[in-house]
Amino acid sequence: MLNSLRDVLNDSVRDLYSAETQLLKALPRMAKAANDASLKEALTAHLEETREQAARLEKAAELLGIKSKGKTCLAMKGLLEEGAEIMGEKGSPAAKDAALIVAAQKVEHYEIAGYGAARVFATILGEDEVASLLSETLGEEKAADEKLTGIAEATVNDEADAEELESDEEDDGDAEEETDEDEDEVEDEEEAPDVKKSAAKNSKKPAAQRR
Ligand code: FE
Ligand code: FE
Ligand code: ZN
Ligand code: FE
Repeated sequence: MLNSLRDVLNDSVRDLYSAETQLLKALPRMAKAANDASLKEALTAHLEETREQAARLEKAAELLGIKSKGKTCLAMKGLLEEGAEIMGEKGSPAAKDAALIVAAQKVEHYEIAGYGAARVFATILGEDEVASLLSETLGEEKAADEKLTGIAEATVNDEADAEELESDEEDDGDAEEETDEDEDEVEDEEEAPDVKKSAAKNSKKPAAQRR
């Protein structure tokens, strides 16, 4: 029953606990499915954090005098089903990594919303210790989200894009720049003609800097 702000806080803590425990089971699979090393690392690191986050919620439940278990977060269930759907797809490693990042960031945003609101309610209710536990996790979720954005920008999306270019040449006229170079080759052999080289430089990072 939801009659008071306290009921809402209690409910939120239980919902978040369910979300985190579901995530504990899913993150190892997601890390295993990731191809990019930095993505794998990020998901594995977040698994460690998630264990702590679940423990913090147990502590918060104890402070509030409620049981942490007993609720199912349906939103996390759905988000993780989408993640599983991506992992089950066939396709290129880089494109699948990019899709995995989308799924993982949706999870983080859900958590950020949940922790953000619950922290406000805990503060209003004078539950300062609970508020500070929630706040600590909120910071980690935001950091995890930003880390994923960084990985998307630095590596994965670049690779997915490059694969795309390799497989179809019809583009907007500057497909020229990509023609000869194999993705994995280091560009140290012969000086390419100046024009071509600077064009490539302006539009894309050199292949050697991509992962
Ligand atoms: Fe979490
Ligand atoms: Fe939920
Ligand atoms: Zn999380
Ligand atoms: Fe998280």
